[in-house]
Amino acid sequence: MDAERVMRQLEAVGWHCVHDSEDPKGEICVINTCGFIGDAKEESINMILQMAERKKKGKLRKLIVMGCLSERYRAELEAELPEVDSYYGKFDFEGMVGELTERPTPSLKGRERCSSFERHLTTPKHYAYLKISEGCNRMCSYCAIPLITGRHTSRPMEEILEEVRWLVSQGVKELNVIAQDLSSYGLDLRGDGLRVTGDGKHLLPELIDEIAQVPGVEWIRLHYAYPTDFPEALLDVMAKHKNVCKYLDIALQHCTDHMLELMRRHITQAEQDALIRKIREKVPGICIRTTLLVGHPGETEEDFEALKEWVKEMRFERMGCFAYSDEEGTYANKHYKDDIPQEVKDARAADLMAIQQEISGTLMSQFVGKTERVIIDRIEGEYAIGRTQYDSPEVDCEVLIRVSGKRLPVIGAFYDVRITKAEEFDLYGEIVRNATLSE
Ligand code: SF4
Repeated sequence: MDAERVMRQLEAVGWHCVHDSEDPKGEICVINTCGFIGDAKEESINMILQMAERKKKGKLRKLIVMGCLSERYRAELEAELPEVDSYYGKFDFEGMVGELTERPTPSLKGRERCSSFERHLTTPKHYAYLKISEGCNRMCSYCAIPLITGRHTSRPMEEILEEVRWLVSQGVKELNVIAQDLSSYGLDLRGDGLRVTGDGKHLLPELIDEIAQVPGVEWIRLHYAYPTDFPEALLDVMAKHKNVCKYLDIALQHCTDHMLELMRRHITQAEQDALIRKIREKVPGICIRTTLLVGHPGETEEDFEALKEWVKEMRFERMGCFAYSDEEGTYANKHYKDDIPQEVKDARAADLMAIQQEISGTLMSQFVGKTERVIIDRIEGEYAIGRTQYDSPEVDCEVLIRVSGKRLPVIGAFYDVRITKAEEFDLYGEIVRNATLSE
């Protein structure tokens, strides 16, 4: 979204911006980097090297790097990669607009100015990500995010609602609400949603309730809740509004008290289990997505066996699993020994995903014969590809609908689809209501 904002501001003063990481053809290349884990850092650096080569060959006039990696390692990058013309971090990137437009700051005047929340959407027109806060105060042992993003800061409610109305005016129907820690939204705001420091209250339920009432918002999807201090009133809001997807992405990371403590998650297994039960009870049919971490320092065979049994028992509708990677500056990096061999970490992650594949296969087969509302994301060969309310773009399952002839479903439109077949991670179906079919 940061890159989308830069693009929009440049466009406001007449620039032509294209989002293309495969084969960029512009004169100026801006790379938005990620620096949270080893793989992402490597990918960012490879992209910088690739573009630096392009610049050397005269195919690029200017190369600019922004984002988390340069926020964290700016001095090192400046020393190692001098081919880059300028570096910006995660919080000062708007200065780039000033540099490129030869203005001292991005304070564009008069009719050139666009609102700070306006963006050039790089997602398909019908969905967008909506960030409601930045940063995190939780300090989980393994996580570098707070080191880069800083303390949790909620955006004022009115500003978010203004952005929602603008996104709807651009044709967005599905809002993927994101934050490093959704559960803490509002704790740093006053009850009326204005910014003050400290002493606020949980405002996520109110915010989602307000967003759900904005005309044109068809789907709201919630990503990255934290289990400790989870605002349970949110469950009433989810149950109350039809346009709040019955979907919750809540990273739980592990189950044993031993590991939850080492990971500094401030929760016990019993509390975590009780929360999952409550979520399922208050929002029947909800799809819970979670992420687990294996191979964290101190994880014993017993911990891992307990985790496998717990995954079988909890039967999460969606689950991802990562192998621990030792990140510089984190609590685990400073205080624990990264004592589990990489092949053991990888084997544990694969074991867990194999269990999940079976669970997912059983849960998905329960959709066969049912009719679900599906949004169409794209047409690919002989299939229209869409998603139900239980699936987030890019990470979750899809619904494949065979299409033929001239009449194709409209991308971004909703259809009622009867599910005819299920695989572990995908569904197949046919449209039963085709009121919005195009010619
Ligand atoms: S809550 Fe999430 S972002 Fe915050 S420290 Fe823990 S893992 Fe990192």
